[in-house]
Amino acid sequence: MSARKSKACTSGCRTKDHKTWGECMRSKNLRVAPNLSETNVQRAWDKELDSYESAVRQGVQPSGTKQHQIDAAMKEAEASA
Ligand SMILES: [Zn+2]
Repeated sequence: MSARKSKACTSGCRTKDHKTWGECMRSKNLRVAPNLSETNVQRAWDKELDSYESAVRQGVQPSGTKQHQIDAAMKEAEASA
């Protein structure tokens, strides 16, 4: 399994036309839970996905998409760089 594939879309994506991994995940999430789109939950989710995507782009593989997991992975990557 490689996290550095250039294709942006997640494996479950039906359209495969998203420019970024985050965009793909967001579209998936919107389909699953459209009522979250205007809430703080959605905004936090967006922010976390953006962070996650940027981490993955730098070759970092966080243990999950939660902000604290991303932060921990980024810190580790910086420490070992
Ligand atoms: Zn997609």
